[in-house]
Amino acid sequence: MEKSESDTSRHFLRQWIEKDVAEGRTGGKVVTRFPPEPNGYIHIGHAKAVCVDFGMAALFGGECHLRLDDTNPAKESDEYAENIKKDINWLGFQWSGDGDGKEPGFYNASNMFDRMYAIAEELIRRGQAYCCNLTQDEWKEYRGVPDKPGRPSPSRDTAPERNLKIFREMRDGKYADGEWCLRAKIDMASPNIHFRDPVLYRIRHVPHYHLGDKWCIYPMYDFAHPIEDALEGVTHSMCTLEFEVHRPLYDWVVDRMDEQGLLPVRNGVKIRTQQREFARLNITYTVMSKRLLLQLVTEGRVAGWDDPRMPTVCGMRRRGYTPGAIREFCERIGVSKFESESDPALLEWCVREELNKTAARRMAVLDPVKVVIENWGTGNGEQGTGSGAREVELPNNPLDESAGTRKIPFGREIWIDRSDFMEVPEKKFFRMAPGQEVRLRGACIFKCTGCVKDASGRVVEIRGTWDEGSWGGNAPDGRKVKGTIHWVDAATGVKAEFRLYEKLFTEPDPLKNGPDGFLEFLNPDSAKTVEGYVEPSLASCAREERFQFERTGYFVADARDHNPAAPVFNRIVVLKDSYKPGEKQ
Ligand code: ATP
Ligand code: MG
Repeated sequence: MEKSESDTSRHFLRQWIEKDVAEGRTGGKVVTRFPPEPNGYIHIGHAKAVCVDFGMAALFGGECHLRLDDTNPAKESDEYAENIKKDINWLGFQWSGDGDGKEPGFYNASNMFDRMYAIAEELIRRGQAYCCNLTQDEWKEYRGVPDKPGRPSPSRDTAPERNLKIFREMRDGKYADGEWCLRAKIDMASPNIHFRDPVLYRIRHVPHYHLGDKWCIYPMYDFAHPIEDALEGVTHSMCTLEFEVHRPLYDWVVDRMDEQGLLPVRNGVKIRTQQREFARLNITYTVMSKRLLLQLVTEGRVAGWDDPRMPTVCGMRRRGYTPGAIREFCERIGVSKFESESDPALLEWCVREELNKTAARRMAVLDPVKVVIENWGTGNGEQGTGSGAREVELPNNPLDESAGTRKIPFGREIWIDRSDFMEVPEKKFFRMAPGQEVRLRGACIFKCTGCVKDASGRVVEIRGTWDEGSWGGNAPDGRKVKGTIHWVDAATGVKAEFRLYEKLFTEPDPLKNGPDGFLEFLNPDSAKTVEGYVEPSLASCAREERFQFERTGYFVADARDHNPAAPVFNRIVVLKDSYKPGEKQ
């Protein structure tokens, strides 16, 4: 799939910002923000928003703030906050700007609670907000349905002084959760239901992870978000499509801040934040809501937020996906106004594309069976050492000469993959079989003479002879050998664990029966562990180092469990797939 400047990267958000820059509305600086709530780990959907928010700021030479939207006291934590930062950095982005504390570009929405509260009091004084004590059910009933005007709350015309008194009592903890709330006084007949006197503040007697018991009233998202954007001097606030119907309310809050003289001025230009919406990223065969991901973790359905099968950024990292491939995937999905489902095969394709260019080649045998070379002598040939071992030199990456070569021992006994041998070969099976010649990658030509089986008939050892003249891989007489297989030297190879992952769900839409039914589509075979052997040098590789195991797949040394005494590799992705970008998109 060819990408041109015009199709994916010159999307409507970019054009929107371009216009504002050209018309001088940014005061010389484009400012965006990424506003995660620290109530979970970020997933591939958030990665998309990260790429858009940070990407647009970078494109226009501006800044992107990282703002933790911690206005909801329940379920938020510093552990989540720290991991969100780590994941954004790993994806390749860094927040910048003033910040509200010691860290440039970093903000906590909760640090703006005092100012939000002051704005709310001013709305009350101006008759633009009132306290309401309808119950939740009454509130819904009064609000009505879109095609019929709602009914005003009995408190709608309460005098500002009384509203102020009640609001302060709400703040001071005089009331229970739900007893009162603060509502904007806008329009109970608006066809947009979000405009019918929406709630701005509610009572919640829940301690906040940073501010403890300081507050028992908390601002609603629709009130808090525009205030946060405006106070930070954000010029372009991008979010997902479900907020489009909230946009009039966003603008209403910004207008009220303008009336209160609170909009910042940059280079003589009053900065009036604006919101635009783009389609969420959805991927088949997984779930992305943080609530459902948390459920998978707490119920032990996966090994944690960073389980390599999870769609979280830390899960994909542990799986071995690269930040570049994730960014490329988000770029290829593009920014649009239309909801769609993306195929995880496109992400895998991006991973494979990158790793094919960058990953060092190594040999590993995942389902080992021993091969004995009967005519392998001791002290064999001039390259031989006392034990009869030789060294094979292989390129680290045939696509990248600068990656150099490596030497691997080769001796009398080697491991090959069980699937590379057939006692009675099928037609066109050009690998190892009695009477048939095969090339042992980079080493020599080997002719199988037979095999040894155990009582159950399982092959336990393969035997044969090598052609000494073929050292390096080619026959001295030029005869053709069709198959080449990989191997690991038995004397020096290191035992390793391989973790093989498949899709976490068997169903493209695990939520098709609703959020309570998704567990029934969990794939029981999504994680499998096997034991085999790797080239000796692999034992000492670094955690998170990625390789192509020849003819097998891309693997990464596990970030937690890999160590030289017991190497552990996660399969990132298989080598080949029929998927081609563009076909299924
Ligand atoms: P979830 O519903 O998965 O819990 P959320 O939207 O509640 O996610 P937030 O932490 O509030 O999570 O989101 C932070 C930012 O990431 C928001 O701007 C949100 O619009 C964006 N975002 C979340 N999910 C996606 C997605 N699937 N695709 C694109 N952007 C997303
Ligand atoms: Mg949210």
